[in-house]
Amino acid sequence: MFKPHEIYYEKSVEDYELGKELLEKYKDVPKKTIESHNNIEEMRQKENKEFLKMKTNLIIGVRKTHKYQENHKVSDYLVPYTSSGCTASCMYCYLVCNYNKCAYLRLFVNREQMLEKMIKTAEKSDRNLTFEIGSNSDLVLENTITNNLVWTIENFKNTSKGKLTFPTKFDMVEPLLDLDHKGKVIARVSVNSEDIINNVEFGTSRLKGRIEAINKLKEAGYEVGILIAPVIFVNDWKEKYLELIKRLQHELSEKVKRDVFFEIIFMTYSYVHTKINEEAFPTGDNLYNKELMTGRGRGKYWYKENLRKEGEIFFRENMKKYFPNNEILYIV
Ligand code: SF4
Repeated sequence: MFKPHEIYYEKSVEDYELGKELLEKYKDVPKKTIESHNNIEEMRQKENKEFLKMKTNLIIGVRKTHKYQENHKVSDYLVPYTSSGCTASCMYCYLVCNYNKCAYLRLFVNREQMLEKMIKTAEKSDRNLTFEIGSNSDLVLENTITNNLVWTIENFKNTSKGKLTFPTKFDMVEPLLDLDHKGKVIARVSVNSEDIINNVEFGTSRLKGRIEAINKLKEAGYEVGILIAPVIFVNDWKEKYLELIKRLQHELSEKVKRDVFFEIIFMTYSYVHTKINEEAFPTGDNLYNKELMTGRGRGKYWYKENLRKEGEIFFRENMKKYFPNNEILYIV
């Protein structure tokens, strides 16, 4: 269970029920008030080597930006929701956007306002929209602190239209299993080769727990998807990912295998990741490989096209063999 080392909070959170609850829950944790969760001067001064220590802090604020971003994958819109950042430390995390300034967990207490906007948008639309509520954080993890995912599902289930979806790398799904979600939630669990999880995805749930979580969510009636993400082209990537696919085939329940869908995403990386990881994980794996990667602007890298093509062929062939009846929504 995450216990913050220090809490930074905007004074206005005291006006919200969840804000009061969190301040009470952590009444024995040292606290500082801040002007804005977006700009904490003290954090800006920190060295990259303090990255992991910063992840032990909790920031509590009020979300001011509520602009939806269109999306054309599982969801129709990416919704800025109740949290941003995470307490785990995956070495490639795309939320590590600006050195170490926005990777720590931030909780936003104005959840009623965010949910109301989503419900109104769902009901006004002539289509059955799906909202991605977990693109800025991991809501299964956040739920262990705020209970927000349970609260959201319970308050969204009676809308006349619309669905929610979120991805997760955590297995603490017990609180979701008895909810009457009315088929309005698509839970997507992200998996990777066991070695990659152990060596790169620090602080997340291990592969075994994630596979068990998929089976439990399906048993509880949720629609489920699996992300194989991010695919990292380590030396023996073909063996590692074949082992993963075979393990999924073996350990997923028959119910899951009947209709689970897959999303497969190749890793992207950046100069910022390299700098943080060199200092925060001096003995960790180096995920940047200049032979295999190429720049895609603004200090970002992705794998060269020939390798992405080879990866795509590998996954299409093996998924067809081990999951012949399941859809791969995309490979990118
Ligand atoms: S679990 Fe997700 S949000 Fe958290 S560090 Fe890993 S990739 Fe980032």
